[in-house]
Amino acid sequence: MSKKDLLRGFSPSIDYRSMLLFISVGLLIIGLTLWNWHYDIRPRLINEAESNARVLAASHARAIESQFQNVSGNTDISLIHNSINEMLLINDPGTRETLYRGIALEVDYDVFPADYDMVNIDVGDTNCSECIISENPIFIHRTGELAAILKVWANPVFYQRLVDDIIDNLALLLLGVVVVLVLAWMTSNRLLYNLREREKSLTVEVAERKAVEDRLQQIATYDQLTNLPNRYLLQADLKRKLQETARNKKMLATLFFDIDHFKEINDIHGHEAGDIMLREAAQRVSDITRNYDLLARFGGDEFVMIMSNVTNRSDVIYVAEKIISSFNRPFELPDAEATVSTSIGISVYPEDGDDPSELLKNADLAMYRAKADGRNGYQFFNAEMNLELQYSQWVETNLREALNNDGLELHFQPQVNLDTGKIESCEALIRWPQGNGDQINPVDFIRIAERTGLINELSTWVLNETCRQVNKWTDRGYKTVRVDINLSSKDFSDKGVLYNFLQTLRRHNLQPHQIGVEITENILLESTDQVIKALSVLHNAGVHISIDDFGTGFSSLNYLKQLPLSGIKIDQSFVHEAPSNKDDLIIIQAITLVGHGFGLDVVAEGVETEWHESLCKGVGCNTMQGNYVSEPLSARRFAKQFLKKS
Ligand code: GH3
Ligand code: MG
Repeated sequence: MSKKDLLRGFSPSIDYRSMLLFISVGLLIIGLTLWNWHYDIRPRLINEAESNARVLAASHARAIESQFQNVSGNTDISLIHNSINEMLLINDPGTRETLYRGIALEVDYDVFPADYDMVNIDVGDTNCSECIISENPIFIHRTGELAAILKVWANPVFYQRLVDDIIDNLALLLLGVVVVLVLAWMTSNRLLYNLREREKSLTVEVAERKAVEDRLQQIATYDQLTNLPNRYLLQADLKRKLQETARNKKMLATLFFDIDHFKEINDIHGHEAGDIMLREAAQRVSDITRNYDLLARFGGDEFVMIMSNVTNRSDVIYVAEKIISSFNRPFELPDAEATVSTSIGISVYPEDGDDPSELLKNADLAMYRAKADGRNGYQFFNAEMNLELQYSQWVETNLREALNNDGLELHFQPQVNLDTGKIESCEALIRWPQGNGDQINPVDFIRIAERTGLINELSTWVLNETCRQVNKWTDRGYKTVRVDINLSSKDFSDKGVLYNFLQTLRRHNLQPHQIGVEITENILLESTDQVIKALSVLHNAGVHISIDDFGTGFSSLNYLKQLPLSGIKIDQSFVHEAPSNKDDLIIIQAITLVGHGFGLDVVAEGVETEWHESLCKGVGCNTMQGNYVSEPLSARRFAKQFLKKS
């Protein structure tokens, strides 16, 4: 969500509403105050003024009354004239405004004979229509007779002034109220504004934080290259799917697949092209994935598909085959097209496990079997694989120990010239004797060592031990022969034995022709320029290089032309069968012919009988190796039996 979207929710109408609210409250207060003024305060003020006037009139009357008493009997009323005048002409001292303007004194002349003129007191204009008139009778104290009626006219100015004062105060009050309201409105508005601003920034902050969290979550649970869930999300989803499957009493299949020889894509076309292929592979398999299935990148070139709601294995086979065939189409890479295949291992819930890690582990195991069976296929897990796993774990742990504690041995099998019957060379074969006299099958532990990466250490040990042994024989006065060691395809890596081969020989003071190398045909699958170059260096230095188990693996004769070879060794299976199987005999003949055509030594392996020997000799093989001559022997026995003293 963008910042703009977030801010869209904030409307300025909130400001207008609060302003309207304040104006309305202000107007209401003013209205109430005016209403109160008009119907309550004003009448009360007038009332007050009137009663004030009345009180004043009464007090004047009392004063005038006493004046009358003082002058009783005396007809000269002029004496009170001035005092009345003084009393009834009340001016505002500040403005000199007349507050009481008039007075009328109605005199009962029967009671109080007086001079009219004298009584007619001129106290000013009493003719005011709005005046408040207050009357007070004046009695002669002595006789108790009514002498006069005093009328006081209070000028409206008198109370008008009071009202004006109040109005002024009221206006001030109202102004105060308005100012307070405006200030309150401004303050609260400011506060509201600040709050809103804070709220806005908080919302943006929260949204940004949420976006960061979402991104982190995405990174933590999704593979960034393919956008598929990663192994952590896969584990969590698989757990949930297993619970669902258990409830529905259905099956669930875990398909673990790994691209075959993907490293070559990286090596040949570059890492970026490898990435493109991984993305494209993920896309192709995603297109096969049904809605309720899950596809995840497990790591490297490994993917996992979880199929839930499976009713039988044929559903799974159908999908596995679709995955395999989705790889058949070539992948478009920046510099070229490339074709790869994939191998799939399948484990099924509930038979093969009921928790994610067990199902994944078993599918992985089955995948290894699919690879071992030639790749580009699928394999269902079975219990034997588990035993194999336990065995390979045991081998891995113990082989490491054997390597470090001299637990391994080399045995030597002679290779004898078929024409002369003389020993020409021998093959060093690794042996791992157990305390009880048993041997662990080298084929098994070498395969496991290749899988676990121990092979480099193992091959290094073999090369060093062979060199040591050759030196030992020399030291003991034997004339040594070339000893061939077996190297695995993994020894061709950057850190592999092959790259340190000549250096190792130099360290042991041996010549390149003294130690030969046997490689299998499978190495040819990896015969990149780099491998060919490395072999050429050895070959040019004089190291004898031969292809082992010839005829069983990768069958292209083209590499005989490409690789710098010195010899080929016909696989023993052909030799064993040749006496009874014409086809095998033909193969031996053909291999010998081709080998010689390329100028290579041809060694027949597995020669166990005289018949084998004569057969191999008949087809023109140069050398034989097998139990007919001798089984592999310990270094001491081999020297004793086959090496001459120099
Ligand atoms: P195998 O048939 O036995 O599977 O052989 P392989 O060559 O495919 O070897 P493996 O599966 O053991 O190794 C996978 C290689 O994939 C290792 C690594 O160099 C490469 N790799 C791992 N992650 C990536 C990635 O994200 N991009 C690219 N381009 N390569 C990767
Ligand atoms: Mg792979």
